[in-house]
Amino acid sequence: MHSALGEYPETEFQLVLLDRQEATRTLLEELLPLQQEYRFSHLRGLDPLRLFASRHRVDLLLLHWPGDLHQYRQLIEQLQQYCPDCPIIVLESSACDTRSELLQAVGASDCLPLATLSGPLLQRAIRYTLRHHRQAAEIRQLRQADPLTEVGNRPFFYRQLAARLAQSRQENRTLALIYVDLDGFSKLNRRFGHSAGDTVVRELSQRLKETLVSGQTTGRDLLARLGGDEFALLLWLPPDQQPVSWLRQRLQQLLQRLAPPYRIDGNERLLACSIGAVLAPLHGRSVDALLRRVGLAHTAAKQQHGGSYRTFTPTLEESAAAPSALEPDIFTALRAEQFVLHYQPRIELCSGRIVGAEALMRWHHPQQGLIMPDRFIPLAERNGLIVPMGYWAIHNAGKALMKLRLHGRLDGRIGVNLSFRQFRDAQLAATIGRIIDQEQIDPRALELELTESALFSDEHHVRSCIEQLHRLGIAFSLDDFGTGYSSFALLQKLPIHTLKIDRSFIRNVTDNPDDAEIVRAIINLAHNLEMVVIAEGVETEAQLNFLQQHGCDQVQGFLFSPAVPLESFEQMLERGLP
Ligand code: C2E
Ligand code: CA
Ligand code: CA
Repeated sequence: MHSALGEYPETEFQLVLLDRQEATRTLLEELLPLQQEYRFSHLRGLDPLRLFASRHRVDLLLLHWPGDLHQYRQLIEQLQQYCPDCPIIVLESSACDTRSELLQAVGASDCLPLATLSGPLLQRAIRYTLRHHRQAAEIRQLRQADPLTEVGNRPFFYRQLAARLAQSRQENRTLALIYVDLDGFSKLNRRFGHSAGDTVVRELSQRLKETLVSGQTTGRDLLARLGGDEFALLLWLPPDQQPVSWLRQRLQQLLQRLAPPYRIDGNERLLACSIGAVLAPLHGRSVDALLRRVGLAHTAAKQQHGGSYRTFTPTLEESAAAPSALEPDIFTALRAEQFVLHYQPRIELCSGRIVGAEALMRWHHPQQGLIMPDRFIPLAERNGLIVPMGYWAIHNAGKALMKLRLHGRLDGRIGVNLSFRQFRDAQLAATIGRIIDQEQIDPRALELELTESALFSDEHHVRSCIEQLHRLGIAFSLDDFGTGYSSFALLQKLPIHTLKIDRSFIRNVTDNPDDAEIVRAIINLAHNLEMVVIAEGVETEAQLNFLQQHGCDQVQGFLFSPAVPLESFEQMLERGLP
């Protein structure tokens, strides 16, 4: 049986005797030679049993708890809650056949008479019960396992989710629910056929299983295949871990583990995956809420394109509701000049000077007022409008840059975000080249911010675009660094000048040692590759001190300034930071 279903080695059986008195235990110890295959524990009450069962597996319960049939029915029902699926043998002072049948009718597997009990009889009964029980479990397992991958199937998963959620509430523990699938799996199926698809699904399942084994799991974590290339993981959070950062680490491990190419049709092929995750109870307490929210997180990861994960945030719910409202308006927004760029200064730590800015888009919606990019950029990426919007941003940021230069106010760079979706425009490099020519923008002062997922999508095409633009003199930075899958080889191959550490690491850098370690490592990595490193989202003096101590080159964040209109940025350059 499979470890992914929470099974265990079958060489040793845990027998538990439930009895208030000592006499039966002494008898059983005499009758059961201390064989290696049995472990034997004696418990004197229901509470000790519940505690024991929450920590150990119980394979067989021996029950000596004299009572009438009604009392037995109630007791056995309760025992079945503490030790689900565990067979129960009742020990009575003297048993007769009818009594034994009645006890079986209320849930016992067998009934043995203590008065005439012999070693061989007891051992035979135990062996028989265990074997019978195992066969029943195997049948259950077959009914709940997915035949292709041998992990849990969809109905099994839903049952388990409900049961574990209830358990997590009782025990006050945190549970993580993770959805994983591959990008472009149906395309792959069409192109290479279903048997190639099956091979990939099996390989994916194998990799996921290994992440269960290699994580510090409790043995009760669960992997299930929901259908096609969709898998779900249910993980128990180890106690005394900070849930959000623990989850992030696990997701990162998962991304790394799933990143290597798959062998398809004799060739190695990269297949990106998308991962969505939620925590219970943080993101929801009911099965429905968790499934809906993990779905939203997963969809958001899919939109990021190419090997990424997303954890649920409330904005995902808003943006899931918003598109229908904003979608018609966005088509006219560009022509109606409703977009503006705001500029967030970048500060060089060694000099304290503003050495550049990031251009961030805002939408002045005629009815809804100022809309932030998290609400409209994903929409524009979905419907393709991000392509003209992206050109507009480069055009405008470039003009702003030249104006600031002309007045002698800025000798640094302006960063403009470039979406993965823009690489699908075959004319990307040529169009940017033309904009630079027309507006006489100095390309050396322009920096395009890419995300790791953009690089991962179509390595060859993306690389050639980047190289063409680099030849024009444009610099590149890698945005949100640390949140996606980064190939070290790719980092070295591409002309990337700057790494921007994602703000999720900066947020807890002063009180989470893991985040501190990650930030230190990224700074060192950047410097080893002779890159500039920028920390995003710096909000406190303590964060600033940490970054300064560890040699970070530049920072961006609310501690200095949010993104502001061009005029305010100009004043900031003139008069210094407020
Ligand atoms: P990003 O590229 O990671 O941009 C940085 C975001 O962090 C900005 O949010 C900025 O306002 C915010 N931020 C800066 N300092 C702090 C801080 O100290 N604390 C916190 N909590 N946040 C801080 P914004 O402007 O809402 O932009 C969100 C995202 O939208 C950007 O993330 C970027 O991915 C995208 N975006 C914005 N403008 C454009 C654009 O012109 N083109 C494309 N393709 N994407 C854009
Ligand atoms: Ca950015
Ligand atoms: Ca960023």
